[in-house]
Amino acid sequence: MKSHPGPPMTLGNAAAARVRLIVWCETCGHQVEPDPAEIAARYGADTSVLGWRERLVCSGCGGGKWIWSSPEPSGDSTDIVQNRRG
Ligand SMILES: [Zn+2]
Repeated sequence: MKSHPGPPMTLGNAAAARVRLIVWCETCGHQVEPDPAEIAARYGADTSVLGWRERLVCSGCGGGKWIWSSPEPSGDSTDIVQNRRG
């Protein structure tokens, strides 16, 4: 596994690379794992995965405070928390 700096991953990149985008709602614990190809079609392939996460609304609590459950999908680690437990 290599990680190299570069522009943020987009939904189009994620779909092409078959990246799993798994996020948890920090408020209620709801987990979603959308199909990258589906959200790329809905939000636009040029939308960054971070931008998508910002716009995602939780169907459980109506909030939008998400944390990555999968490894962070880009080099931008700002405020990303992985596998936080307890
Ligand atoms: Zn929620």
